[in-house]
Amino acid sequence: TKGAAMVTAVASRVQAQRKQIDKVLALFRLTREQLVGVRDKMRVELEYGLKRDTHPLATVKMLPTYVCGMPDGTEKGKFLALDLGGTNFRVLLVKIRSGRRSVRMYNKIFAIPLEIMQGTGEELFDHIVQCIADFLDYMGLKGAQLPLGFTFSFPCRQESIDKGTLIEWTKGFKATDCEGEDVVDMLREAIKRRNEFDLDIVAVVNDTVGTMMTCGYEDRNCEVGLIAGTGSNMCYMEEMRNIELVEGDEGKMCINTEWGGFGDNGCLDDIRTQYDKEVDEGSLNPGKQRYEKMTSGMYLGEIVRQILIDLTKQGLLFRGQISERLRTRGIFETKFLSQIESDRLALLQVRRILQQLGLDSTCEDSIVVKEVCGAVSRRAAELYGAGLAAVVEKRREDQGFEHLKITVGVDGTLYKLHPHFSRILQETVKELAPRCDVTFMLSEDGSGKGAALITAVAKRLQQARGE
Ligand code: BGC
Ligand code: MG
Repeated sequence: TKGAAMVTAVASRVQAQRKQIDKVLALFRLTREQLVGVRDKMRVELEYGLKRDTHPLATVKMLPTYVCGMPDGTEKGKFLALDLGGTNFRVLLVKIRSGRRSVRMYNKIFAIPLEIMQGTGEELFDHIVQCIADFLDYMGLKGAQLPLGFTFSFPCRQESIDKGTLIEWTKGFKATDCEGEDVVDMLREAIKRRNEFDLDIVAVVNDTVGTMMTCGYEDRNCEVGLIAGTGSNMCYMEEMRNIELVEGDEGKMCINTEWGGFGDNGCLDDIRTQYDKEVDEGSLNPGKQRYEKMTSGMYLGEIVRQILIDLTKQGLLFRGQISERLRTRGIFETKFLSQIESDRLALLQVRRILQQLGLDSTCEDSIVVKEVCGAVSRRAAELYGAGLAAVVEKRREDQGFEHLKITVGVDGTLYKLHPHFSRILQETVKELAPRCDVTFMLSEDGSGKGAALITAVAKRLQQARGE
């Protein structure tokens, strides 16, 4: 009976621990009502950003991009593209052939060391130009004068396609003297400083816009661009008459929503957890980009880490020992989360991944870690779905359609690598925007190809105007 009593004691301890863990996981489970609430609040913020009076204070910035149409297939030529702000920095050569709508690309990935991301603006742009020089050398293109499209994946205020004032850095960047400056000017000046080649910078483009363009090249219904990667953002084609910041009522223009800032006015506080707050406080831009910090690859692993620290403190994980590793920021990259959540993986393999991350786990630990990852990424996908539902519903209503068929071009490591994210996102949109028939189209290299297509269109218009 002594043995039986011990078994009972252990069983009830296990039960109590389970309860504590469930309590934490429950914070990440959103009800249908909550998701409907997120969708409706997003809708309100979209409208705020479009209206002249409310725009200056809007948290979803709704930035005009001066991209007004899709490529029509007549674009052609050789272009350079830069892609800054995603997982990698790349320089690309893009060759577009008209008629057949075929595009060939050559690209090179360059590292941007942390001290450059967070150094001075001059150093950052000098480094970029150094990479362009290397690339031109490598491609045997030294001295060639190619038109360039600059995919710059940060919020920029534009007054034309070839000007973009950086509003503020997001994600891992914090170079000085850039905010409030035109990034095209900064690039031009860095090229001048180097005094080795000349480039014709034709367009500055957000990655969402490049993604939409790339998919729009193949599918006329593509009117939305979505990035679920290091950062989180969405753009879409809006009626000119709704864009109060830009003169004119005819036709459409692409709006870069910068929805990552959703919630910065506190409107998501009812669903934010203590872990979200900790991640925000430990970030480079506290108080900013709150929706992005609940949804994107750069932060999901951090949320997971905060939860694991808390569970360990409560004695529910890792034998109650918080290791140095667990205290280290950024250990759970998107690729690890994706691996841990893969259904094909045996628990033993989950333990091995944790081991690689320097975390010694028991079998029970690895079950809990996997559950935590699942809860965090599910919430992210649902929040994306709620946000996207707001936009497609707006498009449907604005056009007065009973039903809307629309394609969303998507890119980003989270969407591409994660085993469940895309499915949950799609299910949520279906649920929250039942009158819209949304097709998701994976963009193959939107940032490079899209920037080149936009550059090609801009160049054609320039020439038509005789510039
Ligand atoms: C930036 C957006 C960008 C998104 C995805 C966000 O942090 O503010 O401009 O589109 O990341 O890269
Ligand atoms: Mg990218």
